[in-house]
Parts: sequence; C-alpha cells; structure tokens
Amino acid sequence: MGRGVLLIISGPSGSGKGTIVERLVDELGYSVSISATTRSPRPNEKHGVHYFFSTVESFEKMIENGELLEHARFCDNYYGTPKKYVEEQLEAGKNIILEIEVQGALQVKEKYNDAVLIFTMPPTLTELRRRLENRGTEDKATIDKRIKRAEEELEYLPRYDYLVINDTVERAVKDIDCIVNAERMKCSRNPELKNKFKGDVC
Ligand code: 5GP
Repeated sequence: MGRGVLLIISGPSGSGKGTIVERLVDELGYSVSISATTRSPRPNEKHGVHYFFSTVESFEKMIENGELLEHARFCDNYYGTPKKYVEEQLEAGKNIILEIEVQGALQVKEKYNDAVLIFTMPPTLTELRRRLENRGTEDKATIDKRIKRAEEELEYLPRYDYLVINDTVERAVKDIDCIVNAERMKCSRNPELKNKFKGDVC
C-alpha cells in the first residue's frame, strides 16, 4: 500500500464541512488530525477529542520546537496542526484530513506539494446565510460578518485543487472520496509501479 493522501478541507462556517469530515471518518475510515488551539473550549468540546486546548505559552513552545506542520491566527487565537500524528498516518497508508482555514492550507501545500486542497461551499451565499440563520447560534451582525469572511475566503479558491458544492452531505462525501481515490491512482504518487509488470511475460 502506498502513502496515504493528505487532504485539506476548508470552507466557511456553515458550509457543512464538519459533518462531511465526520462521515468520511465514521463511514469511510479516514483519519482526522486533532488541532491545537489557544481558544477556550465550547460547551461539549473535549480536550484531545475536538482540540488540544493549550495556553499561549505552550503553543508558542510547540512552534519553537518545530512540532507543528502549520499554524495560523484566526479571530485572535492560535490554531495549529501537530506534525507527528499526520506523518505517522501517511506512512501507514491512511488518508488523513486536516480541517483548517486558508492560511494554514496554503502553508501545508508549500511543504507537501502532493497535499490535496478542497474548498467546500453551499450552492449559493444565500443558502449559506439561510443555514447560518437556521442554526440559530449567531445574531444578525455575526452572520453578516461570517458571510463577508466567506466572500474573502473565496478569493483563495484559485489556489485550491477542487471545489466541492455541499448540496447534500451524501453527494459531497461521495465527491471527496472519488477525488481521493483518483489521487491515489496517480502515476506520480506511485513511481515504483513501473517495476510491477517487468518480467511478467507469458
Ligand atoms: P473554530 O474555532 O470554529 O473551531 O475554528 C475556527 C477556524 O479555524 C475554522 O476555519 C477551522 O477550520 C480552523 N482551524 C481549526 N484547526 C486549525 C488548525 O490546526 N490550523 C489552522 N490553520 N486552522 C484551523
């Protein structure tokens, strides 16, 4: 088995990327990286399950020690991907997902040229607003801010490899799994395959 695919999934809040990632992990056996962050846990969030919650001091130590694959500041907090687990999963041939924002995604692409960057969006910005309103967790000003942020993030779309429209979760999960399967079959990812057929003549 070859090396796994390093899969980055980004998209605005309300794009449904969290649900997509959950399905890829629970139903299709993908691994997911647990990030470190300096933001406070939300109700129901557990250390080591949703994030590794950390102080600014220990986060900066991780940066200093080169323990993070990438890191970024987002809404006044640090977020970063611990390197060791990702490397272990790739070596074991597992596909691993990083659900991270655009700055981090671009840092990863610089270090891992074969990382696959996927941006998820609902079919329209109107639909994104509708989903955020239905969630009922943010007031109108916050929703306006998130829509604006989504428009800003869309500027980075040309630097991503694929756009997956999350019309239904089932469809989006299927699309992403197809992309990853095709990536794994790329000749450039499997240079040793040319030897597989040598000497195999009837
Ligand atoms: P939240 O605070 O809502 O959980 O996450 C805020 C944003 O940070 C989301 O866009 C999420 O994808 C992103 N994020 C989560 N973990 C990481 C990480 O390790 N690195 C980077 N660059 N972004 C992250």
